[in-house]
Amino acid sequence: MHATEPYHGFQPLTQTTKPRMLNSMESMPVIAISQCLMGHAVRYDGTDKHAPSLLLTLEHAVRFIPICPEVEAGLGIPRPPMRIELGNTGSNRLVVINSREDHTQLLSDYAERKLNELRTDGVDGFILKARSPSCGKASPLTNADGKRVGVSPGFFVQEIQCAAPELPVADEEELRDDKKVEEFLKQARHCAALRLGTPSQKR
Ligand code: SF4
Repeated sequence: MHATEPYHGFQPLTQTTKPRMLNSMESMPVIAISQCLMGHAVRYDGTDKHAPSLLLTLEHAVRFIPICPEVEAGLGIPRPPMRIELGNTGSNRLVVINSREDHTQLLSDYAERKLNELRTDGVDGFILKARSPSCGKASPLTNADGKRVGVSPGFFVQEIQCAAPELPVADEEELRDDKKVEEFLKQARHCAALRLGTPSQKR
């Protein structure tokens, strides 16, 4: 191309399009939260794990999307309790304690589907119930006899860690610490700013 020829690879805008200003609600980070922490009776035994002080701390800073992996995967309320077991091949299994029914595939498929859906709609972080075999960041890992042999992320958290490691994940126990709340919000705001194309508030 001659030096004086115009370069046509980049077309200038022919009309000015002003970006729409986001209102304060729209620019808040979107946080998917375990539904039982919001006070919904979705646990295996039909109870909740309402965390009112956590909700009060964050309700003016984020927008919540309640999720319950086990109910949304189709397991119903009430349902028999499950645990994460170390399988014979070294991979972890999600097993119903009494019947030995294996829900590993069911929860893994749900987790992949749900995370894709949340990312398409826009999500900037997760607050998930501690020690749940689906939601817990560090849940008990047992052998087939129920003897504890370690810890493992729950099946929904595993999917986030593999497919979206940039998104912050916290549980309600960590967020009793004000510093952890601050750190979580900072990361979630940064993710929201990247998603919305607004200036990052990483401070
Ligand atoms: S811990 Fe997760 S899967 Fe269990 S009831 Fe709460 S939201 Fe549902």
